[in-house]
Amino acid sequence: MTTISNSSVLRCSQCGSELILVSEKITKLEEFSAPIKTKVYKCSNEECQKDIDKKTSSRIKLLKQQEQAKENRIKAKVGLRLNKNKILR
Ligand SMILES: [Zn+2]
Repeated sequence: MTTISNSSVLRCSQCGSELILVSEKITKLEEFSAPIKTKVYKCSNEECQKDIDKKTSSRIKLLKQQEQAKENRIKAKVGLRLNKNKILR
């Protein structure tokens, strides 16, 4: 007898342990766009999950830094434009 359950089990890409479904949420980006289903998985290997959490938080930190840098660039551009207008007048 063959079991099909094995193929439906998701494995962690880091350690190969089974992944546990933590939550499932449906997000809609725009009012008329199709909703996107997001599944959040957790590694059943505690040590591995800790490592993933660490990586995730550092990635979020990096993203925030990039966002801040982008904002600063936009602010600098606006300042430049204002200066130009002053010169033109
Ligand atoms: Zn893992």
